[in-house]
Amino acid sequence: MKAIIVGAGIAGLVAARQLGLSGWQVLVLERSASPRPDGYMMDFFGPGVEASEQIGLYPYLSQVAYQVEAAEYVDPSGRVTASLDYRTFADLAGGKVLSLLRPDMEHAARKALQEVPEGQVELRYGVHIQRMQLDGAKVRLWAGDGQEVETADLLIGADGIHSALRTAFFGPEQDFLRPLGMRAAAFIVQEPELNQQLKNRFVLSDTVDRTAGIYGLRDGQVASFLVYRQDPTAKLGESADRLRRIFAGTNQRVDRLLELSPANPYDDVVAQVVMPCWHHRSVVLIGDAAAAVSLLAGQGGAMAVCAAAALGNALGEVSSKEQIPAALAEYERVMRPKISTAQASGRRAANSFLPRHRLGLLWRRLILRSTKLPGVDRLVAGQIVKRLAK
Ligand SMILES: Cc1cc2nc3c(=O)[nH]c(=O)nc-3n(C[C@H](O)[C@H](O)[C@H](O)COP(=O)(O)OP(=O)(O)OC[C@H]3O[C@@H](n4cnc5c(N)ncnc54)[C@H](O)[C@@H]3O)c2cc1C
Repeated sequence: MKAIIVGAGIAGLVAARQLGLSGWQVLVLERSASPRPDGYMMDFFGPGVEASEQIGLYPYLSQVAYQVEAAEYVDPSGRVTASLDYRTFADLAGGKVLSLLRPDMEHAARKALQEVPEGQVELRYGVHIQRMQLDGAKVRLWAGDGQEVETADLLIGADGIHSALRTAFFGPEQDFLRPLGMRAAAFIVQEPELNQQLKNRFVLSDTVDRTAGIYGLRDGQVASFLVYRQDPTAKLGESADRLRRIFAGTNQRVDRLLELSPANPYDDVVAQVVMPCWHHRSVVLIGDAAAAVSLLAGQGGAMAVCAAAALGNALGEVSSKEQIPAALAEYERVMRPKISTAQASGRRAANSFLPRHRLGLLWRRLILRSTKLPGVDRLVAGQIVKRLAK
């Protein structure tokens, strides 16, 4: 049995491993010329940890994880207004919270492909799929240069939130994409001095309608993400200029990062993908393509791993094309409740992640400051973990 996976992000790479391990012939097609180096720091816990342990991916992920010690909010003068201890989170989640840089997570997933017997999985970079068609029980794909790529029994769309496969087989993006009224940007820069100041702390700006989060990486780099409210229909203009304008005065460190920002950083709408069905004949969607939960849920990477594991389990025993539809329905049955919970948690988090007014800031500070009272730290952190992991 042969599968083609479009997209070598977390979902695509883990699905390739799982199918390869159960004897499928897998071809992964990725449009970028090589693994994408851009990224941000992601929390990985709850269902993602559980799924990665079940499929044996966890050791690869933990090898590349960072040891975040605390998250700190700072006001425009640089004063720390509130903080939360990460070890408390880890204790409450059974010691299993990983802080992973997106490209490191993909690197770990590629490394884990070494367990698949040779020749079972092929990874091809620099192939941008632009046309696709169902031909009887087979799928046919064409790359940007007009070349037809091999046919297969199953096509897996792991091509992210703006999935071209979703548009081709399920309908236009506007039917499924639910913007949450925000945009997010992220980039990594070399800044040894700032890196030294951060020392294993996640530093977030305590500001209305915008939040900048920064973290010091290995090798003197600093990773940043910038989230801000934005009308989805507004005219955007050039990314770096817009970010400098919106985040001006956030605090000195953010000003410095914005000076170093690349002209075209990652910069996209914060949205969820909501679809009534994720499979159609021999085509199935996974990860953000099927059901983006948004960065507000803090579980997109985790859901990508869960989906790849569930799809691998469902297709593991399949030995003929006739068995594929039932396996895809089973994958969907397992994943639906996890996605609904994570998407609901993402929607709930919107206002506390990005307070709309000063009162909201004060309320968040109060809650986080209360964690300094004896015994309250565990309680508050416990509630936050529970909300995210539910
Ligand atoms: C700022 C930010 C912070 C986040 N924080 C967290 C967090 O703390 N915890 C968490 O779990 N998640 C977080 N997420 C979400 C998480 O990153 C995503 O949910 C996850 O990476 C989705 O993985 P994916 O493989 O489905 O899609 P993607 O990573 O988007 O991969 C899709 C791949 O498909 C390729 N592709 C697209 N179209 C084509 C085509 N036509 N032909 C060939 N290839 C194609 C793309 O180049 C890409 O490599 C965050 C996201 C953002 C933006």
